[in-house]
Amino acid sequence: MDLSSMSLEKLRNDLLLDREKREEKICELLQRVKIPVVFFSLNIPGENKALPGTKELASFGIKLICTKVKDVQLIEDGVDTLGHYALFIVNGDVCHIKRKMVEIEEMFDFCRLFDIDVYDVSARQIKRKDLGLSERKCLICDKLAYECITERKHREDELVKRVFEIIENFLSKKSSLLS
Ligand SMILES: [Zn+2]
Repeated sequence: MDLSSMSLEKLRNDLLLDREKREEKICELLQRVKIPVVFFSLNIPGENKALPGTKELASFGIKLICTKVKDVQLIEDGVDTLGHYALFIVNGDVCHIKRKMVEIEEMFDFCRLFDIDVYDVSARQIKRKDLGLSERKCLICDKLAYECITERKHREDELVKRVFEIIENFLSKKSSLLS
């Protein structure tokens, strides 16, 4: 095994481990607080999840959640091999909370890079389709995102390029959005 395939394997392992750690964090928090939990992360394709501008984008998303949602409390934010993330607890009806998060995911063009999961007290994830809302669209074409993902319709470098464009668009607008 050469060095690059070894490091690729290590990266894949780290991604899996961090995914497990995230799930543990969510479950531990749910058991402790017994109210809905929101997990915010960024949808970044490719191996490198912390690109220039992703930190600012994550901070902006966290700020949006804190200002647009009632009775929300930020518990933790950080970055791991999967990228930037944040954990919140929200006191309220879980369907209402999910609707608010979908509104945020659709607020600006760059919000499509936000992935905001809502869990009820029994750790069940509330999905868009549970609320009769449309599924998320692909970043590149007009099809549904999961269809393009399962069909592997777009090359990874094509997706990364599109994400760079979206982040650049965010950085150029950021100062006017915050004022
Ligand atoms: Zn597509």
